[in-house]
Amino acid sequence: MDKQSLFVQVANLEERIGELYVELGALRHKIVELIEENQRLLQENERYKAAVPVEGASPHDGAGIDNLKRIYQEGFHICNVKYGSLRTEGECLFCLSFINK
Ligand SMILES: [Zn+2]
Repeated sequence: MDKQSLFVQVANLEERIGELYVELGALRHKIVELIEENQRLLQENERYKAAVPVEGASPHDGAGIDNLKRIYQEGFHICNVKYGSLRTEGECLFCLSFINK
């Protein structure tokens, strides 16, 4: 094995390591994004569970719509379009039309 060949091999290896390093960085970035997304969803879920009343706690009629109004006030969609997700864009006409039925 001549020296020239070894140099080429090392250079190739360096190049591959460089590429792997870039790939690793991108994966790390993706993981951070996923962790942040997961955290956001966990918080959303916690808020949602806190807003939804315990089943059977309000047996009388009319409680359902009151609960939905409360959930809406807590910042969640109650419309069938985005039910259960956080209202990030302010008032929702679908939700409001549902409440005002
Ligand atoms: Zn809505």
